[in-house]
Amino acid sequence: MERIEISTSRKTCLVDITRDVERVVKGGGVEKGICFVFVPHTTAAIIINENADPSVGEDILMEINKIVPFSNNYSHLEGNAAAHIKSSIIGQSATLFIENGRLVLGRWQGIYFCEFDGPRRRGVWVKVIEDLRK
Ligand code: ZN
Repeated sequence: MERIEISTSRKTCLVDITRDVERVVKGGGVEKGICFVFVPHTTAAIIINENADPSVGEDILMEINKIVPFSNNYSHLEGNAAAHIKSSIIGQSATLFIENGRLVLGRWQGIYFCEFDGPRRRGVWVKVIEDLRK
């Protein structure tokens, strides 16, 4: 298992980690298998979506921030209840296929770390499982 280090620069942002995950997959030398990506944080998440046009990510963030407003008489006293809710709705992990030593992603897809309570230093765990079947 390998850890990808991320430094986020804003309160909410999407960070494209596709290249970092690909580097872990290549480093593992696995030709065929499964790649798990997991975020060990309660105010962050993982999504897979378009990485060709950055405005898609901005729209996703804008709408998520509307669905879950930053303040709404939440009970959680730390002040980051919205970030916990966004993290819970979106989820902490992604599962990808590996074929011919590479991640199988659609032409326009990338893997994004979602920051909901930044800026912070963060980590993402990546584990590669080899498929040994013939
Ligand atoms: Zn909290």
